[in-house]
Amino acid sequence: MKHCIVFILLLFSVSAYSQKAENIIIITTDGLRWQEVFTGMDSAIANNKKFNQDDSASIYKKYWAAEPVERRKKIMPFLWSIIEKNGQIYGNRNLGNKIDNANPYWFSYPGYNEIFTGYPDTAINSNAYQANPHTTLLDFFNKQSKYKNKVAAFGAWDAFDRIFNEARGKFPVYSAFDLFGGSKPTVTEKTINALAKDAYKPFGEAEVLDVFTHYGAMNYLQTKKPKVLYIAYGETDEWAHSGQYRDYLNAANMVDKWIQDIWNYVQSEPFYKNKTAIFITTDHGRGDAIKEEWTSHNNKIKDSYQIWMAAMGPGIKAKGEVKTNQQLYQKQFAQTMASLLGQTFTAEHPIAEKIEINK
Ligand SMILES: [Zn+2]
Repeated sequence: MKHCIVFILLLFSVSAYSQKAENIIIITTDGLRWQEVFTGMDSAIANNKKFNQDDSASIYKKYWAAEPVERRKKIMPFLWSIIEKNGQIYGNRNLGNKIDNANPYWFSYPGYNEIFTGYPDTAINSNAYQANPHTTLLDFFNKQSKYKNKVAAFGAWDAFDRIFNEARGKFPVYSAFDLFGGSKPTVTEKTINALAKDAYKPFGEAEVLDVFTHYGAMNYLQTKKPKVLYIAYGETDEWAHSGQYRDYLNAANMVDKWIQDIWNYVQSEPFYKNKTAIFITTDHGRGDAIKEEWTSHNNKIKDSYQIWMAAMGPGIKAKGEVKTNQQLYQKQFAQTMASLLGQTFTAEHPIAEKIEINK
C-alpha cells in the first residue's frame, strides 16, 4: 500500500511538470525596478527628503529588514514565497542574471511592443506612436480556433488601445476608463464603472488607478474564462515619476497581493486549476538612487534598460531565483510565453528565440 501511494505521487509529480499549460495570464507592472524586486526597499531613496513624503517611519516599519532577502519579501511576499518555491524569477544582476530591453529607448510603448511581438522595432520610438502595425502574441493566439474569442487585455493606461491595435478589432482591449460590459453591463460591471468614474484621478484621463483595472480583469476572468489574459498595472511607474517612494512601494506591494488573488482564484477553479501559467514582468527599468534618477527612465538615464521576469505554472520547473550567469532580453519573452502553451509564435516580423526555462 505504501509503495502504491508513493507510485501515485510520483506519477502525479512527473505529469505536473511534463504537461504544458493550456491557459496563460500575463501581468506587467510598469517600470518596477529590479532593485526593489530583488533587494527590497532602497534606504538611499527612503532616507531622501525629496522622495519619502515626510513619512520615512511608515515605510521603514512596513518594508525594512536588514537583509535584502528578508526586505524583498516585505514588498512582494507572494513572489518570494509561492512563486519562488514553484516557479522561476530572473533578473538579479547582483548574481549575474541579467535581462535587458533590446529596444534602445527604455520607455513604455517600445517595451510593451518588445514583450508582445518579440521584435524591438526601432521605428516604435514614442509613447504617442500610431496603432501597432505588428502582429502581437495576443493576435497570434486569437487567430487559432482553440483561443478565438478567448483572448482579452486590460490595461490601466490608454495607450494599450494602440499597442494592441484595438482598431483591428480582433480581441477586446479594456484600457484606462473604458466601460466594462459594453452596452450590457452586469451589476458588478456597473459598480466598477461608476467607482472608476467618480474616483480620484491623479493621472488624468489617460490612466486609471490600478484597482479598477484589476477588478475589471478579475471579473472578466471569473465570468468569461479567457484562455489568454493580459493585465497591465501602471501605478508603479506613475508614483515613481512623481518621486513618491511610499506610493511606489505600496503600488508594488498591492500588485503582488493581486497576483496572489489571481493565482488563488486560478487554483480554486477547475477550468484553470493546474492548467494555467502566469508570466510577470515589466516594460523598462529606472535610474539609480544615488544620482536621484530612480524617478525616471529613457536612454539618457543610466541603467534604465535593466528589467526582470517571473513565471510559474505547468511545464515550468521550480528553479526559484535563477542564479545562472546569463544575459537575456525582453524580446525573448514573446516566444517564451508561446512555448509555455506548447506553441511556436510566428508572424511577419523576426521573433527572438525563447528563453529555455527548463534547461
Ligand atoms: Zn514612465
